[in-house]
Amino acid sequence: MPTRLTRATLELAGLEVPVIEAAGGSDGPLLTVLAGVHGCEYASMAAVRRWARSLAGRDLRGRMRAVPVLNVPAFRARAPFVVPGDGKNLNRCFPGSATGSIAERLAHDTFRQLITGSDALVDAHCGDLVEALQPFSLYDAGPAESRARDLAAAYGLPYVIRQEPGPSRAVAGSTSAAAAEAGIPAIIAEAGGCGLVQEQAVALHVSGLDGVLASLGMTERTEPAGTGITELSRSIWLYASVAGWWEPTVAPGDAVAAGQAIGAISSLDGADLLETVVAPASSIVMFLTTSPAVAADGLLLGLGAR
Ligand SMILES: [Zn+2]
Repeated sequence: MPTRLTRATLELAGLEVPVIEAAGGSDGPLLTVLAGVHGCEYASMAAVRRWARSLAGRDLRGRMRAVPVLNVPAFRARAPFVVPGDGKNLNRCFPGSATGSIAERLAHDTFRQLITGSDALVDAHCGDLVEALQPFSLYDAGPAESRARDLAAAYGLPYVIRQEPGPSRAVAGSTSAAAAEAGIPAIIAEAGGCGLVQEQAVALHVSGLDGVLASLGMTERTEPAGTGITELSRSIWLYASVAGWWEPTVAPGDAVAAGQAIGAISSLDGADLLETVVAPASSIVMFLTTSPAVAADGLLLGLGAR
């Protein structure tokens, strides 16, 4: 029996969130796919919309449910990074709280209704409105990490970062970290950015999601799993020490040496150099802030190191 698609609306923290469900013709795993945890990450949303629809009529074992735009208020407000109601980054709030602010409640309801009970989770992201990035996937240490690593490899992006709790993990409270703690294999996959629907990035996500289906045994594998992947074990995020005009001198994907100058912050009139930003370790530029406007303590770049 070919796969049937159905539309549904989930109520999460009082918000109406669209869900696309696909029921395969035979039993198998339950895969959950999220996009739009951040409200202006359009390439990953576009990919999940396209990919989920492409399952209609295909042979599928098991079930899939996809949320193309989770953070609906941020999408509608064109608000990068945060949920507009409380200014919190949803991907720092998992597994959430039933009695917290809107981002914490949205994380809680998403975790309870969508992540719990899944056999695998893919959370598709890209750079937000003012971020460019080198495509990569990440997964978290934990009881399900070997299966999570398989999913990351199957997604086929050129870099895979393993995150451990502690100082080498850039962020806590992410979808993948909360899933990992619950023993659910999960990845965050990043391709695209800058508020654009770049066809190349959309295609990377669509092909990555097909790779995940094959890796879970939900479809026949049509091509070999990703080869030539570089595995990294450390994320280094660099922040501005002063507010000003930010100019990176590197691009996503560049390899940088320890001590290399990778950007500068100057005064708004261009007269004063306020800070030279230096790579603390030999690493790869995974993402960077493209907007010249940076606040003191604003995020500038993310590096990945072995
Ligand atoms: Zn994101």
